[in-house]
Amino acid sequence: MLDTMMRADWLDEAAIHATLAQAERPDPVRVREVLAKAAELGGLDAADVAVLAAVRDPEATEEMFAAAARVKEEIYGPRIVFFAPLYFSNICANECVYCAFRRSNHALERKVLTIDELKAETAALIDQGHKRVLLIGGEAFPKEGFRYLLDAIEAIYSVKRGRGEIRRINVNVAPLTTDEFRQLKAAHIGTYQLFQETYDRDVYANVHVDGRKADFDWRATAIDRAMEAGIDDVGLGVLYGLADWRFDTLALMQHIAHLEDRFGVGCHTISVPRMEPALGSDVASHPPHVVDDADFEKIVAILRLAVPYTGLIMSTRETPEMRRKTFALGVSQISGGSRTNPGGYATPVAEDAAQFERGDHRSLDEVVRDVAEGGRIPSFCTACYRMGRTGADFMDLAKPGLIREMCGPNAISSFAEYLIDYGSEETRALGDAAIAAEIAAMEPKTRHYSEVMMRKVRQGKRDVYR
Ligand code: SF4
Repeated sequence: MLDTMMRADWLDEAAIHATLAQAERPDPVRVREVLAKAAELGGLDAADVAVLAAVRDPEATEEMFAAAARVKEEIYGPRIVFFAPLYFSNICANECVYCAFRRSNHALERKVLTIDELKAETAALIDQGHKRVLLIGGEAFPKEGFRYLLDAIEAIYSVKRGRGEIRRINVNVAPLTTDEFRQLKAAHIGTYQLFQETYDRDVYANVHVDGRKADFDWRATAIDRAMEAGIDDVGLGVLYGLADWRFDTLALMQHIAHLEDRFGVGCHTISVPRMEPALGSDVASHPPHVVDDADFEKIVAILRLAVPYTGLIMSTRETPEMRRKTFALGVSQISGGSRTNPGGYATPVAEDAAQFERGDHRSLDEVVRDVAEGGRIPSFCTACYRMGRTGADFMDLAKPGLIREMCGPNAISSFAEYLIDYGSEETRALGDAAIAAEIAAMEPKTRHYSEVMMRKVRQGKRDVYR
């Protein structure tokens, strides 16, 4: 099939530079205007984002963080959704100079999981308590080609362990053709996720030196092909550290605006990976545009204010401290107990075959406990995707605030399921207290739903959701 859009002509670099230059020294009145606009939960435009990106004054930064925290609380409440990356392979046909998986890195031991090994990984994740995985690998399919991916998805969904199973598979693989995306949709994936890494064409060319990924436009138009094929939950991301973060954040806004114009809905999630050291990569240890912690927190807060209904994903690249800080600023999804080497869950070994170094090495149970201790509700819910609440339907539901009425009880019942089936004694005690406090704080109608669902879970029913 001929793929319709071959150039990302929505990306207007000159406009981004002009908007950034105009906002260089924003006066406090303008900053407050932008924060007041964000408080109405309607999102921000590029000029607003540029204003917030230029804020350096500590007082204004605190105001911005407080505004992001209010938006996060109002839309999402205390929920933090959990997932685990599942690496199927570390072979790659590309040469991304910052990545341990790049083709020429002979220091890396290569591994492609067989379907049986993939099932063993899935079983290990289910036994930890996971319900949602992100299927991911280097950008080359094993010898079976694209078929491998479809078989992998089928295999993961087929694994049942006692009361557990994987209920949602999100996918992060190399850009596909529209026809392949159609097959991916038919395989019942949740979100298709693809990071442009950087929208700066020059930087992109310097760091993606060979392989199909060197074609900026093939990658930048992949989400269009996915959406043309009917995948309406898509995830975007920037690898912060490659180029100027202000430029890349505004370019991300242009990408989202383009999707909204063309398909009536933007992206479901945004990931904010920050460059970490990777085996054999000097660039990864010395990022060209270092994003320090203060700017990284700003990025999270700005995105939360700019696209309030889009999930923000934080991986285990970041330390527990940074992860905790950014929950308040807007992060709504995290991974826990992750391994970034294929086979790392079933056979935990030194991560010589990993894509990058992790900042958070805790087990899922420890991360869950930490989240609950911080007064938040770890959620393992997968209801929306299974009820068909995706794409524009999800946004229609989310915008009037229903997200809290539905997702609140769903988070609690899925957390209770986790605590009963997989939680350690200490985590269970903390989690039960967090659940009781959250139910007590609910509106009467929502509390009623929640109590009914909790009763079912305690009686042994599983996968209870609205
Ligand atoms: S970033 Fe992705 S495409 Fe690039 S070398 Fe690593 S695995 Fe391959």
